[in-house]
Amino acid sequence: MTTTAILSDVRLGLAGADATVDLSLRDGEIIAVTPHADGQTGAQPEAPSDDERIDGRGLLAIPGLINTHAHVDKSWWGRPWQSFGGPPGLEGRISHERARRDELGIPGVDVTGEVLRQFLRHGTTAIRTHVDVDLGVGLRGIDVVREAVEQTCPAMRCTIVAFPQDGALRRPGVVDLLRRAAENGVEHVGGLDPAGIDRDPAGQLDALFDIADATGCGIDIHLHDPGDLGAFEFELIIERTRALDLKGRVNIAHGFALADVPAARARDLAEQMAELEISLTSVAPVGRAPMPARMLREVGVRLGLGTDGIRDLWSPYGTGDMMEIARQHARMTGARYDEELLHVLAQTSTSAEWFVGGTGEGDRESGVTGWAGGTDDPAAAVGLGVGSRADIVLLDAENPMDALVRAPARQLVLVGGEIAHDERR
Ligand SMILES: [Zn+2]
Repeated sequence: MTTTAILSDVRLGLAGADATVDLSLRDGEIIAVTPHADGQTGAQPEAPSDDERIDGRGLLAIPGLINTHAHVDKSWWGRPWQSFGGPPGLEGRISHERARRDELGIPGVDVTGEVLRQFLRHGTTAIRTHVDVDLGVGLRGIDVVREAVEQTCPAMRCTIVAFPQDGALRRPGVVDLLRRAAENGVEHVGGLDPAGIDRDPAGQLDALFDIADATGCGIDIHLHDPGDLGAFEFELIIERTRALDLKGRVNIAHGFALADVPAARARDLAEQMAELEISLTSVAPVGRAPMPARMLREVGVRLGLGTDGIRDLWSPYGTGDMMEIARQHARMTGARYDEELLHVLAQTSTSAEWFVGGTGEGDRESGVTGWAGGTDDPAAAVGLGVGSRADIVLLDAENPMDALVRAPARQLVLVGGEIAHDERR
């Protein structure tokens, strides 16, 4: 018999904020939501007597957070401080990282596992991570990340992007490695500034799109190139997505150019992206113009949020807390109304399912449509209901908006219905 776990006495947040409920969890899903009654299992069907009960202590329950842009393969989290060094700029970062990596070796399963635990501590239950693929490490980093997930939390969903951090075309052999990674089952091949790094935008993009077309993988490309140059590369990506009919399989990471170019041009690009379901991921970077979030929402471009690398040879910053990133994005883009704050939380949870293999549209059968789904059902309003994944985070907050702006400690984190982190006292 599969055990049912009862996560009892939790608040779902908006309407009926004071009422607590019991969530019945089985096979990684919420199978029932019932009013909380002390000492009872509620109306949960076929309740076995040996249910595992988890005391939610009246805390607020929100869906697991989703990090859509991470680099878990090269963080030194939990290890001695690695000083920032080397010249500034993208090339400086790449050369510094290569040199230090030669001395330090690539982080192993234990180090990567520590990064994953840090994510779990903060309530992140699914990730899309870029993993370096180059002539030095080959495809080993991908195996390390997969093994680390398996050892740390097998229920944590992990989507991998094979990432040519040191360039693709300018390092002969790397495109072949990307193709092999795709043939071996990574979900996406990555790219990096086709103009700024490879200095051959059409060439790099043709190579990546050819791999995607041939193998069925997606594309998730880092695009830091700013202004007109970056916008031109947006156009090249849009052209190729359309020509090869790769609708819904392409993501642009960072995409700073969209915030640089005049609003009319940004909107024109965004409308084409929405039509082709080309998504964007942002790490809410400090010191950059913020993403035109309202316009993207109006037009219907899916935007995911991520931590980027944390404490690595690129930057000493980052804690791995997606709630901090969400708050930063909300502040930078001027979100203040409750509805806007809820939308940002959806981008960090239910809507971001799309980036890790889900639909991002909630569960149609149960009518759970996400945080801003326009439903009167309080369970649906917070993105947790019958049929939702049992990826659940408990925290001490009045409601989801309060959780976003304060980012209080995550008290309990469930992944697939199993406890992955517990700070209840
Ligand atoms: Zn990145």
